[in-house]
Amino acid sequence: MRSRDSYAEPFRIKMIEPIRQKDRKSRDLLIDKAHYNVFNLKAEDVYIDLLTDSGTNAMSANQWAGMMLGDESYAGCANFYHLQDAILDIIGYKYVVPTHQGRAAENILMSMFVGEKQTVLGNMHFDTTEGHIRLRKAEPLNLIIDEGIMPDTNHPFKGNINLVKLEKELKKRGPEQMPLLIMTVTSNSNGGQPVSMENMREASALAKKYGRPLIIDCARFAENCYFIKQRDEAYRDKSIREIARELFSYADGCTMSSKKDALVNIGGFLAFKDNEEWYEKAVQIQICYEGFRTYGGLAGRDLEALARGLYEGTEEDYLEDRIGQVSYLGQKLIEAGVPIMKPIGGHGVFVDGKSFLPHIPQAHLPAQALVVELYREAGIRTIELGTCAFGYVDPETGQEVYPTQDLVRLAVPRRAYTDRHMDIVVRAFEKIAARKDRICGLEITYQAEILRHFTARYKLL
Ligand SMILES: *Cc1c(COP(=O)(O)O)cnc(C)c1O
Repeated sequence: MRSRDSYAEPFRIKMIEPIRQKDRKSRDLLIDKAHYNVFNLKAEDVYIDLLTDSGTNAMSANQWAGMMLGDESYAGCANFYHLQDAILDIIGYKYVVPTHQGRAAENILMSMFVGEKQTVLGNMHFDTTEGHIRLRKAEPLNLIIDEGIMPDTNHPFKGNINLVKLEKELKKRGPEQMPLLIMTVTSNSNGGQPVSMENMREASALAKKYGRPLIIDCARFAENCYFIKQRDEAYRDKSIREIARELFSYADGCTMSSKKDALVNIGGFLAFKDNEEWYEKAVQIQICYEGFRTYGGLAGRDLEALARGLYEGTEEDYLEDRIGQVSYLGQKLIEAGVPIMKPIGGHGVFVDGKSFLPHIPQAHLPAQALVVELYREAGIRTIELGTCAFGYVDPETGQEVYPTQDLVRLAVPRRAYTDRHMDIVVRAFEKIAARKDRICGLEITYQAEILRHFTARYKLL
């Protein structure tokens, strides 16, 4: 990877969107009014928004121009065919089922393949994937390599699946109990960590051997391919598009949230390599939940922006800048002594709340306390992925069950912020670090039964 100071952003800015930092007193009031949950803040009260990289992408002039060419015909719109061509070209799959976003593609996939009491294998399922598996009364099973969940071990492909465990599971149960294998690239849930080409190839061979379809959850496939190019000698001289074609060649289909690597604000799709029967089955479900086969819940203009975004998202200079910016933020935080997960992932930096605020016990939500402090310090919005997001109250014992990690994710929207915004984030961390002994924990005062972190309320202790 070239060093960040040897190049600048491979774009210039044609249109701007003003953002303003509220003063400290207002921020204290606003976060209090939001019950210390940043999901309750109005976006206009946020200065730098690192809540998520999903749908927060800045589109290019080329994509906006494409929006004007939206063909809003109910059936057979031109933009669908553009999208179909782009997917055939970049991914290599023939059958395309557009959906309104990634989870809608998951809904169709799970409806087709998954039934009660079955188990769906994967490296590490994303939370909406898990949700759709559980909705069908089936069980998600994560088989990520051990290094994948060790925050301090430096492994180049922490998204890899454990092949020994995978074969053991496949051997144990027949296809009627284990209908699908899903590989998520990059693995979102452990920090945007990539899957290696070799691991995908071997997972594919096992899936074939035992006769199960392999589906790639490919929301961040371009970032994954960039990591393969950087970290695997054998792919150094290949283009991102060549790497992508090979990666997808090992699977039978994919689900995509285009709100990530396709550089749009909404949209998704399900695609199959060559199985026409699956495609027709998927279309039946698509028509009920999404819309006719050529629009699937999206406007013609959205399909066009998505088709163009797939090309832009797989440009080498774009990816160098994208991954470079996330890495820039991570490096600066390391230099400032902030404990982060290593290696730095593709779409964000994950800070270890427990070791940043060691005086706050996990029961008092150190990562959430840091989320609150970042807003108070500089109007920065981040997300807690720890005790609030993954902990829960055991219905039998009434006791809180704690996840091992308590993290704050700084997700970086694509093409939206400059490195100077990243510098402000680093400075906020430095200021918080200087007074961190005085930061107190929080307590939950209201929580929903599932996905509690979206709507929870907190009070300061
Ligand atoms: C975002 C995401 C999804 C869900 O997609 P939406 O567009 O948010 O519905 C599924 N899988 C992964 C890996 C994701 O990052």
